[in-house]
Amino acid sequence: MAHICGNCVFHCMDFRFQKTFDSLIESLEIELGDFDRVSVAGGAGNFEQLERHLELTTKLHDAKTLVLTVHEDCGAGATRDDLIKAIGIAKETYPERTVKAFYVMLDGTWEEVS
Ligand SMILES: [Zn+2]
Repeated sequence: MAHICGNCVFHCMDFRFQKTFDSLIESLEIELGDFDRVSVAGGAGNFEQLERHLELTTKLHDAKTLVLTVHEDCGAGATRDDLIKAIGIAKETYPERTVKAFYVMLDGTWEEVS
């Protein structure tokens, strides 16, 4: 029996950003219960975890939209450049999926990156 969800969201574990991540998810009109949530140090800038979870979310849950985030002041060292690299990895590996990416700020805002 297949378990399908529409989206997979990658974000950092950092507690300071959880409310903002939730606001971003809500703004994208992604319903609770329709996404895999990957919360790891560095978010989408954690390439090892990114690749592992992209493989699983597409294989197990057929997530069509992949939402990648990295945030400002990341203690795990993820940067805006890492987010751009993550976009490349996701688009190259899963060209049939929609990739959206956001750089998230400490002030509770975010910027879409492509
Ligand atoms: Zn972080």
